[in-house]
Amino acid sequence: MKKLPVAKFKCLSCEYSDYRMSALEVGELAQNECPKCGKDLKVVAKEPPEWLAELLELVTKHFDISDFVASKDRVELEATARNPKQSFRSLLDAAKQKGYLPAMRKREGELRLMMMRYPRVGRGRISINLLLLGVTFLTTFLAGYFLISGYFLIFDRTLYAALFSVAIMLMLGAHEIGHKIAAWRNGVESTLPYFIPAPTILGTLGAVIRIKSPIPTKEALVEMGATGPLFGFIVALPLTAVGLMLSKPDEGLSLLFTPAIFAMLQVLAFGYVPAAMSINPLAFAGWVVLLVTMFNLLPAGQLDGGHVARGLMSRERHYEITRMLGFSLLLFGLFFPELPLWIFGFLILLLFRGYHMGALDDVSKLSKRQKWLAVATFIVFLLCLPIPSG
Ligand SMILES: [Zn+2]
Ligand SMILES: [Zn+2]
Repeated sequence: MKKLPVAKFKCLSCEYSDYRMSALEVGELAQNECPKCGKDLKVVAKEPPEWLAELLELVTKHFDISDFVASKDRVELEATARNPKQSFRSLLDAAKQKGYLPAMRKREGELRLMMMRYPRVGRGRISINLLLLGVTFLTTFLAGYFLISGYFLIFDRTLYAALFSVAIMLMLGAHEIGHKIAAWRNGVESTLPYFIPAPTILGTLGAVIRIKSPIPTKEALVEMGATGPLFGFIVALPLTAVGLMLSKPDEGLSLLFTPAIFAMLQVLAFGYVPAAMSINPLAFAGWVVLLVTMFNLLPAGQLDGGHVARGLMSRERHYEITRMLGFSLLLFGLFFPELPLWIFGFLILLLFRGYHMGALDDVSKLSKRQKWLAVATFIVFLLCLPIPSG
């Protein structure tokens, strides 16, 4: 392994100092190169410190380094490799053990590696997850009891609320377990789900897992985004179908719009799409979750669909799509104010005003399997699109 020529530079005017790949000798100047003040840098040493020597040796095992700049907590390298995708994976594993996290980007046609100090992630406390789980069971039950079941005198109120609560929690739970499994598979550190109790008609705002370490590859990014909605959808389907079979088409509650798949299940259950129903709690919970799934699968920002989309495209492209989608949904609301899509447009514009940083390896191409996963989420998205009902 050939040794790289290293020099420690110090600014003559300010405090700045770094290590670079350079053949200059001690005492020589690099003119106007201080990135802080633009004045001259002077070589003050030729030997890299131990941490840097180790790090360079680590990277050299997987990449050919053609240039680098190193400061205390961040090293940026220009590098090449015959198979960057594979090299990056091996580097990632090795670097993590040494307390570094690499990221790979393409700038002006060149591969750039960034090595950052990797903060150890602390373990979350399970008691909080359990507490929120319990409280959300309660609030969804109360929502079912006081806000919804009152419409339908043909159902027992307590049973209605209990079924509603269990159905919501099962579907949200499946969604989060989907994310969690993808995180495990891809070596991403994440918390257990936090359920969010809320005084809404559902008694909850859903659930989230918190991602505690960066997502390594585009494959991992697509999987992380796709598995949640897919798992949730798969559990929502049979619950909704059973709920509809137990519902009665009558004067009960008229839904202004339904997800497309919900209308299909209604046709299976009744032979037509009824204008109103005494709707069973399982079906009502399914109706809500399918709508939320649709929103979640929009290819915008940090939504689940946004992660999938970001795995398929550059951050600039993804940002444009996010903005465009936000504006078009808002515009759509002018023509179809009865569909809730304009609210989604508003939320997207409000929430996602920056780039999605993407995976650590933002260069290598996505593999086939995850492309199919993206197609599957797109189909689920179409199935959950709301259509006017009745
Ligand atoms: Zn300076
Ligand atoms: Zn999700």
